[in-house]
Amino acid sequence: MAIMMTGRESCARAMHFCYGHRVMGHKGKCVNLHGHNGEVWIYVTRMHQQQGLDELGMVIDFSLLKERIGAWIDAHWDHTMILNKNDQETILALEKLPLDARQRPPFLLEGNPTAENLAKYLLWSVCPRVLQGLGVVVFKVEFWESFQSMAIEELDPFSPEVLALYK
Ligand SMILES: [Zn+2]
Repeated sequence: MAIMMTGRESCARAMHFCYGHRVMGHKGKCVNLHGHNGEVWIYVTRMHQQQGLDELGMVIDFSLLKERIGAWIDAHWDHTMILNKNDQETILALEKLPLDARQRPPFLLEGNPTAENLAKYLLWSVCPRVLQGLGVVVFKVEFWESFQSMAIEELDPFSPEVLALYK
């Protein structure tokens, strides 16, 4: 008897970038401005109604993930200071630097720019915006702050709330 192949397919793509940050209120050295070589893994599956693979046998073309999410990261986070929007001390200090066309103002985040909050921001705010209408949902983001430390943010890709974000 033939086996029914009714699993759910997903795929993932990694992106690399460099950023600076500090963790306000941290009792140790993370309170200082410092940088990381970040690695982000984006996990994608097809939307409920379009379960299975596309006509090419893919969840989504890896290059499209790189094009959409990688481009967003390059434009907003790569070689940028990512700061807590309440971190007035650092924001004011950075404002003293003369900005020319090559330089970027800091990216301001609600809360501390920890791996957890950055994973959350990518999953809930960035991915739905840049992948809208493609029939896929990002259900998990791994944010590797270093090769030994990472944070995970996940969601239920079939919840109506999430599907509405991607429509
Ligand atoms: Zn850090």
